[in-house]
Parts: sequence; structure tokens; C-alpha cells
Amino acid sequence: MSELTPPRLKNDCFALPAGVDWTPVDEALDRLRERMSRVVGQETLPMGEAEGRVLAADAVAIRANPPAANAAVDGYGMAHAATGDGDQTLPLAEGRAAAGAPFAGAVPTGSALRILTGALLPEGVDTVVLDEDVSTDGARVAFEGPVRKGSNTRRAGEDVSAGDVAVPSGRRLGPPEIALLAAVGVTDVLVNRPLRVGVLSTGDELSVPGKTFDPSRTYDANRPMLLALLRDWRMEAVDLGHVADDRVALRVRLDEASERCDAILTSGGASAGDEDHVSALLGENGSRSDWRIALKPGRPLALGVWEGVPVFGLPGNPVAALVCTLIFARPAFAVLGGEGWKVPQGFMVPAGFEKTKKPGRREYLRARMKGDGSVEVFASEGSGRISGLAWADGLVELPDGPVTVRAGDAVRYLPYASFR
Ligand code: AMP
Ligand code: MG
Repeated sequence: MSELTPPRLKNDCFALPAGVDWTPVDEALDRLRERMSRVVGQETLPMGEAEGRVLAADAVAIRANPPAANAAVDGYGMAHAATGDGDQTLPLAEGRAAAGAPFAGAVPTGSALRILTGALLPEGVDTVVLDEDVSTDGARVAFEGPVRKGSNTRRAGEDVSAGDVAVPSGRRLGPPEIALLAAVGVTDVLVNRPLRVGVLSTGDELSVPGKTFDPSRTYDANRPMLLALLRDWRMEAVDLGHVADDRVALRVRLDEASERCDAILTSGGASAGDEDHVSALLGENGSRSDWRIALKPGRPLALGVWEGVPVFGLPGNPVAALVCTLIFARPAFAVLGGEGWKVPQGFMVPAGFEKTKKPGRREYLRARMKGDGSVEVFASEGSGRISGLAWADGLVELPDGPVTVRAGDAVRYLPYASFR
């Protein structure tokens, strides 16, 4: 099945209303949510190849789970109507019912039948008594009544009915979803193609480790970080390399990138300085919007559209680049890739630190959970401290307003894994 690829984004999709100065994070997110739409095409895949993909249509159960009533334990099955209070003794019918080997006949009312876990309930059986609750001499079973009607059995379709939506559109197929779809007989699914995201580093000062020890050179940390992040998100990461602070070279690279990417992440050169060429180019083509988002660490973030492809111009600083990618690019990519808007799962946990913050900007602190269930933050807030990113296992989000956090106060913790 083939489908036309959805249209690319319009040039003005990031435009801000006149007079906007500092934009609070939530407002920026609302705006982003409104402006983004799915850009990836769709394809039908056999389940065996669909792991990690995002469903493009509801996956409907071909048959029920379980498909028919069966025994939930190893024991003895009978008609509940023939049981009562107190000591019960029932004759055993000949034969047994096992998983995959149903009992062919009907069990007479007043008799019991040996039945194993997963076996279809034969005609005449609606209740099962657990092995541990009976004694038997091979010809009879005895147990204590009353037993509950239907005990130790599973009803047909008690988990999922045939025709039910087993997994909804927009869900990424992980191991649990794969198990469910297999159980209800789904063999092929309509999924979105993976979002192709290019990663480009900019800056005259950048080099790569192994090439030089010149201390005036900065090793490019953003590109490997962002490529790894995209792969972790099951997207197609496209390495666009590095360009110096050279507008012509950058233009050529963006032209090439827009041919083969659905979205582009650049880092560096996103401010309004002389050497901030990403920002300048997006301005020249008229699509740039400087989202002066009130967050720390983060500004500046330059958003633009290059030949219909959204460009997220991240700050060069790796700490800010990561935070901006997690907070802004991740939910935008979810929409572009057909998952729909995504909100990371946060947890309110007691602070294992103290901090006073001024109003005006939302803050994200490098944080990690301690064994006692509280969350601690990295000792330095210096945005050049990349070691703090690796020390942390997530971020603590402090609200836009003024805050004084005391030890034990509840704070919002966002594990890195919540952004997947
Ligand atoms: P810029 O946003 O270009 O002004 O860069 C801000 C800071 O981040 C400067 O110290 C840059 O050297 C640094 N930086 C820019 N790009 C990278 C990168 N890819 N890896 C590591 N540091 C970077
Ligand atoms: Mg730079």
C-alpha cells in the first residue's frame, strides 16, 4: 500500500505574533504543538519488522484473547450447578482436557474432569477447583464447598474482544505491544516511516577528538550526542557533519540536507552575533523566528524552515543543546513522525537539595535519583559542565516563578528515559 507523502511545512510556520518578547516555556510548547504536523509517509509492514515503529492506524484484534473460555489453573472442572456447601465428592469422568488438546465430549453434570491450565472448558464445565484444594483416589475427587461459579476459569474475550482496538494509532511498538498484537492475531500493521533527522554542527572552533590537541579547538560533542539521542528515539539519524562559520558553505549544506531529511538540528551560531550564521541564513530566507524562550539553560533557539524542512537552531553549548532538544525538539519530532504530541512523564519527588531561584525563567537542573527516593542536583549549574549531563539521569524542572526549594519539598523530576 502506498500513500502520498504529506506536504512539507510552510515557511512561516514558526512565525511569532508581533511584539512578543520573552516567551514562557508552556506558551512556546503550545505554539509548537499548533504549528507541527505529520510529514512522514506510511507503509504496511509484517509484525516481525515493525518493532520500534509508530502505528499509523488503530490495530484491531483479529480474534479475542482468550479466543474461548479456558482453565486458569491445573485442577478439576465441573458444572457449578452440581456443587453445594460442605464436603463434596464427585466421580471423575474418563480422559482429560489439556492446552491444545481439548476434551472431545461433554462432562455429565455431577462428574468432574481432570483439566490443565489453558485447556478449553469442555461442554458441561463452567468451574475449576485447584489441584491444591482437592484430594483424589483416581476415581473420585473430594473438596470443600461452596465454590464460586466460574472460579479458576478465564472467560472468552475477557482480555480483548475481537474487533476491539488492541493498540491505538500513534503508539510506538515496543515489546508489550508486540506481545498483544501477536496474541490477537495481527500479522501486518500500517506504520509511519521513521523520521529522518539531520544533525549539523557549526563553528570555526570545532574539531574532533583524535585530530588535534590545539587548546583553541573545541571537540564537537553535540553531533555525537544528538545522533545518539535520535537513534535512541528510533529515528533515522543523518550525520550532516560540521561546517565552519561560513555562510556560503552552510547554505550549501542546508540545501543538501533538506533533500534528504524531514527535520534538521543544528548547533551553534543561533544567536544574533557576527558569527551566528545559522540564525542569519534562516533570517535571509524569511523563515526565522527567534524564540526567546524563558528557560535556563537554553537560549537562544532559532527556529526556521529550509526548503520546507523545519530547522531547530540549537545553542552551541552542549548542556543547553541537550535541554532544548529534549524540551522542544522531542515533542515537535513526535508530531512530525506521526506519534502526536508527547508530554514527558514527570514525577513529584522530595528534593535532596536546597535552592532559591528568581522569577522569569523556567529552569532545568541536571539531576539524579538517590537510593532514598529523593532527587539531588549537580553541584555546578555552569552550562559548560558537560560532566553534569553524564552524572545526571534526568532533569529537575523548576517553575517559571520565584521558588525556594527546601530539602524534602516536592519537585518535578523528568528522567531522561521519559523523553524516549
Ligand atoms: P555558539 O552558540 O556558537 O555561540 O557556541 C556557544 C558555546 O558552545 C561556545 O563555547 C562553543 O565553542 C560551544 N560549542 C558550539 N558547538 C559545539 C559543539 N558541537 N560541541 C561542543 N561545544 C560546542
Ligand atoms: Mg559558534
